[in-house]
Amino acid sequence: MHEIPPTILIATKNRGKVAEISDLVKDLSVTFLSLADVANAPDVIEDGATFEENALKKARVIAKATGVATIADDSGLCVDALDGRPGVFSARYAGEHATDAQKCAGLLEEMRDVPNELRTARFICVIALVTPDGEERLFHGVCEGRITFEPRGDGGFGYDPIFYNEQAGRTFAEMERDEKNLISHRGRALRQFSAYLRGFCSPASLP
Ligand code: IMP
Repeated sequence: MHEIPPTILIATKNRGKVAEISDLVKDLSVTFLSLADVANAPDVIEDGATFEENALKKARVIAKATGVATIADDSGLCVDALDGRPGVFSARYAGEHATDAQKCAGLLEEMRDVPNELRTARFICVIALVTPDGEERLFHGVCEGRITFEPRGDGGFGYDPIFYNEQAGRTFAEMERDEKNLISHRGRALRQFSAYLRGFCSPASLP
């Protein structure tokens, strides 16, 4: 990719995600839009076998429909003792309408007989960038950890209360948001993306 368009659409309706990404590259002359800003973005079904497939599919479909360079992400929790599950099924592993607490409880029950040394797991995040002329790039972020025996902490979302990070000595749900962002899969992938953008964009303060 030789040039980054001045406008990038983030394939999410979540304003928090948009704010988080814009903040990382606020010194660059790039404008970020979200799906709330465009009228013609189709719904994309995440039915790929990998995080890469899902992120690329979402970014390709939306970039094509809107004519705007698009980034899309996919993420999830991969547990070694469960052969990598829930993986790409993380959001709906405990059923379409399960609460976060039910998701955590279901996973803990499945892991009931797994000893501590075999409870290794990792969160993975993949961000895909696709331009309307078909240029594509992937950015990866991984955070290693261990599945606890019971939920701990009440911050965050999803599987945060049962994901223990050795380095921090806490679960994701026991961390402040900034602390989680520093080590999380999503934070790492986003920083890769922002480093890539920095290679192409002039700082906003320059003419
Ligand atoms: P998606 O990338 O928004 O599709 O997220 C997939 C699912 O993975 C979420 O619904 C959560 O269950 C799980 N997940 C992804 N990232 C995190 C995280 O940082 N903490 C806890 N759960 C997560």
